[in-house]
Amino acid sequence: MNALHTSVHHSAVFDHPEMGEHENVVFVQDKDTGLSAIIAVHDTTLGPALGGCRVWPYENPADALTDALRLSRGMTYKNSLAGLDLGGGKAVIMADPRKEKSPEMMEAFGRHVERLAGTYITAEDVGVSPDDMEAVARHTDHVRGTSDTGLGDPSPYTALGVFEGIKASANHVFGSHDLSGKKVSLQGLGHVGFDVAGKLHKAGARLTVSDIHAPAVLRAIEAFGATAADPAEAHMVDADIFVPCALGAGLNARTIPQIQARVVAGAANNQLQTPADGIALRKRGILYAPDYAINAGGVISIALATPGGDDIAVTEKTMAIGETLSAIYERAERDEATPEQIADRMAEERLSKASNL
Ligand code: NAD
Repeated sequence: MNALHTSVHHSAVFDHPEMGEHENVVFVQDKDTGLSAIIAVHDTTLGPALGGCRVWPYENPADALTDALRLSRGMTYKNSLAGLDLGGGKAVIMADPRKEKSPEMMEAFGRHVERLAGTYITAEDVGVSPDDMEAVARHTDHVRGTSDTGLGDPSPYTALGVFEGIKASANHVFGSHDLSGKKVSLQGLGHVGFDVAGKLHKAGARLTVSDIHAPAVLRAIEAFGATAADPAEAHMVDADIFVPCALGAGLNARTIPQIQARVVAGAANNQLQTPADGIALRKRGILYAPDYAINAGGVISIALATPGGDDIAVTEKTMAIGETLSAIYERAERDEATPEQIADRMAEERLSKASNL
C-alpha cells in the first residue's frame, strides 16, 4: 500500500472524530441497483447490534460515515439504558429515498445484512417504509419491524414511554405524578406528539399545542380543547412542562433562557444542540429528561415484538421508562451532574458489568 493510500485510509476512517469503540464498519455497494451503504456495528457486548437503516441523500460519503458512526454509538447507549439485551448499530444508504430507492436496492442491502451473520439487526428509520423492510426480509432474517416480526408502528409505544416519563419528571419536580391542572406546552403533533397530547388531556393537563402543519393543530383543538401557540414560541409558553415532539436541537443558547417550564420532557431526538445546553438547563433549575431515555418505547417495541405480537412484555418495559428516569434524576442530584450525564453513565455501567461477566 503506498503512503497516500495509507494516509487517506487512516484519516477517512480510523482517525475519524466519531470513530470510537466501533467494532465493525462495513462499506457495501451493489452497482446493479445503485446501492452504496455503510453499516456500523458499534458494540455487541449486550447482544446483536440493533439499529435502523436510514436512506438519505448525503452530500458525500464522509457525511454518511459521520452519521453512521454517531448514530450506531447512540443505539448502544439507548439499548443499554432501555434494559435490552442488544448492542448498537446503524446503517445508512446514500440515496434519495424518493428518486433513487428501489425494492431491488433494498434487497441488495438485505443480502449485505445477511452476510454480517446476525451481528447487525436492521429496522426502519428515516426514508424507509414497511415495504422496503419487506424487501430486505426476502434476503435476511436479521430484520425487525416487518409485518411478520413486529407490532406495527412503534409510535404508540414511544408515546406511552414519553407519557410515563413526563409523569416521573413531574413527580420529581412537583412532588406528584398527578398531571391534572398542569399547564403543558407540546410542540409537534405528529405520530408521537398527537398520541402524547391525548394521554395528557385524559390525565387532566391543560394543553397548549403547536405544529407547522395547521390541520394537526386544528385536530388537537377539537379533540382536546387545546390552545394553539406559534410553533417558534412553544418553548416560551407559560407552562409547567414543555414537551418537544418535533425535530431536534430545539434546546440551545437562544431558547433555553426563554423557557418558562420547570420540566422539559418529550420525544424529539437530539434535543440538546450541544452538551453545554444540558448544563445551562440545570443551572436554570429546569429538569431535562434525556431524549434517548424517554423516547425508547419505539425501540423496545421493535426489539421485543414477536411474531403474533404479544405486547405485554413491550408495555411493561416501556412503562419502566418512568422508573429509569426517576433513578436518573435522584442520582443526578446526588452526584451534582446533569440527567444526560447520568444516563450515559448508567448505560456504560451496564455494558462494563456485562463485559466483566
Ligand atoms: P412525525 O414526522 O410524525 O411528526 C413530527 C411533527 O412535528 C409533524 O407534525 C411536523 O409538522 C411537526 N413539526 C416539524 N417541525 C416543527 C416545528 N418547527 N415546530 C412545530 N412542529 C413541527 O414524527 P414522529 O414520529 O411523531 O416523531 C417526533 C419526534 O420524536 C422526532 O424527533 C423523532 O425522531 C422522535 N422519535 C420518534 C419515535 C417514533 O416511534 N416515531 C421514536 C423515537 C423518537
